[in-house]
Amino acid sequence: MLRALILGITGQDGSYLAELLLAHGYEVHGVVRRTSTLDRSRLRHLYEDSTIYKKRLFLHYADLDDPTTLRRVLTNVRPREIYHLAGQSHVGMSFEIPESTCELTAMGTLRLLEMIRDLPEAPKLFHASSSEIFGRPTQSPQDEQTRHAPVNPYGCAKAFATQMVAIYRESIGLFACNGIMYNHESPRRGENFVTRKICRAAVAIKLGRETELVLGDTSAQRDWGDARDYVMGMWLTLQHHTAEDFIFATGRLHSVQDVVEQAFKTVKLNWQDHVRTDERLLRRTEPLRLVGNPEKARRLLGWEPKTSFEELISEMTHAELSALSAV
Ligand code: GDP
Repeated sequence: MLRALILGITGQDGSYLAELLLAHGYEVHGVVRRTSTLDRSRLRHLYEDSTIYKKRLFLHYADLDDPTTLRRVLTNVRPREIYHLAGQSHVGMSFEIPESTCELTAMGTLRLLEMIRDLPEAPKLFHASSSEIFGRPTQSPQDEQTRHAPVNPYGCAKAFATQMVAIYRESIGLFACNGIMYNHESPRRGENFVTRKICRAAVAIKLGRETELVLGDTSAQRDWGDARDYVMGMWLTLQHHTAEDFIFATGRLHSVQDVVEQAFKTVKLNWQDHVRTDERLLRRTEPLRLVGNPEKARRLLGWEPKTSFEELISEMTHAELSALSAV
């Protein structure tokens, strides 16, 4: 039986990856943090299914800042593949809590590499890196060779972790890979990310529950893809015969304004009547021209982003409509 361990299983990507691995016949183990407000809503459909939970899906309490417990989970589970998706992933928040961001994202990854190194049969490791490692690159689009130049604490922590994964691959011989993930969204995206915030607000305004949407920089641009395509990329990375780093991106840039227009169009509202900007929501430094070239993933893994930006935003808006109409 193929056995995988997911760190960060309760997040957007972790929950989709768990579904994908279960569909491929894996036994899936997830690491969850013991917090008072543990949100497991993204996994509910799986652990309420008695044919899956505790039969092919198992959850374990551990954390990247608690090495003893994590080591115990690794020793007991003996996974063949580890998907490391855990950590504080909100860039804006990383300016407020830089130390804990680095503790989990940077040091946590190093600790995990050290634990894997000590196991008798080292499992393969996928590390979810981020386009934020590139910061304000001079080269556009970016590829696997682009120099790291992060501009926020989150990007800096990810750059450290990404480089460590490469070091453990090249000098220790671990099968350890970085997926350099550009922004990827879905109806399961956290509400503090801009796509979800906009889709949710457009629907709330449509339903008469809210009147306006307040945003920061609407000219900011990102390369936004569909999270479900990206978790497929994670899995393909570990099925490749050699350990490599890959960029996962769509290669297309859109602005926050484009998200606004698509979401409001989906609910047939005039965005001009409801959207305003507030400079208190501006970031200290914005990355620039973060757009990825997924050519290597296409060539070596046959990976392709399948959903267009317009389809993605309108699907997210429709999902909000179903969710909010039900309450
Ligand atoms: P990030 O790329 O991981 O920072 O993803 P986000 O979804 O949080 O932000 C994407 C972009 O949207 C950034 O450039 C933000 O500055 C911009 N943005 C503009 N208004 C907002 C807002 O109200 N909330 C968030 N989260 N981002 C905003």
